[in-house]
Amino acid sequence: MENKKNMLRAISENGGVVFCGLDSTDMVRRMEELHKPSAVCSAALGRLLTAASMMGIMLKSEKDTVTLRVKGGGPAGLLLAVSDGTGNVKGYMENPLADMPARPDGKLNVGGVVGRDGTLSVVRDLGLKEPYVGMVPLVSGEIAEDVTSYYAVSEQIPTVCALGVLVNPDLTIRCAGGFLLQLLPGASEEEISRLEKNIAAMPSVTQMLDQGADPRKMMELAMAGFDPQVLDEYRVDYRCDCSMERTERALISLGKKELEDLYKEEPTAEVVCQFCNKKYQVDLGKLIKKV
Ligand SMILES: [Zn+2]
Repeated sequence: MENKKNMLRAISENGGVVFCGLDSTDMVRRMEELHKPSAVCSAALGRLLTAASMMGIMLKSEKDTVTLRVKGGGPAGLLLAVSDGTGNVKGYMENPLADMPARPDGKLNVGGVVGRDGTLSVVRDLGLKEPYVGMVPLVSGEIAEDVTSYYAVSEQIPTVCALGVLVNPDLTIRCAGGFLLQLLPGASEEEISRLEKNIAAMPSVTQMLDQGADPRKMMELAMAGFDPQVLDEYRVDYRCDCSMERTERALISLGKKELEDLYKEEPTAEVVCQFCNKKYQVDLGKLIKKV
């Protein structure tokens, strides 16, 4: 069960449409255990992690990373999700306890807690000198629409993005997931209108998952009539790659002067990883000698 494949990529028979679907339930559950957010904040960060994972698997190398940053001016503050090229993600948000009443339709008010007055930035670190950065104004703060807009504006790729997180009354995660559909250049009007019909007829991601659907079922519905071919399937999780070495490197980047000031206050620094809460005790005296 633990290692069940939860992400699937497929392509239409003629190669014009690509699909990526993800059941991110386990990933978002881990996030909820670590950060203990309010229900609406779980939905917000869970959606962002789900999108980051699907964007991560599209990177060329496993070592590449993609970072999604959302700053919308709402009570949640900054949201951050990072995926490596294998689709494993980590994330955090500034104010996980921020809360907001549900929308009139009863849904969690993700756009309200994130805010709409700001940007989504996508930073791809491909191991080159400079990372590749794209930024778009937020459309709604609901995340999926913002990712769609990012692809349309920044990359000129027509994209359908659907994301969903269903939170139980006790704040645990009932289910989470999403899919990305992208049209490659040369798609015909007929294909576009067929895709639009397929998407319009689909239940929401959380409805599908809650009824037992997996990414393959999502693919069958989204790509009905396109004879989809499965390209590959993966297992992706919430995973933090922090280490003592990375912690030391981050401290060293503060500079010798700052480290010496810290050392005077306390010879051992306790550094808590903001992605997984792991604590590192760093001997500053030893570290200063390395600078
Ligand atoms: Zn960590």
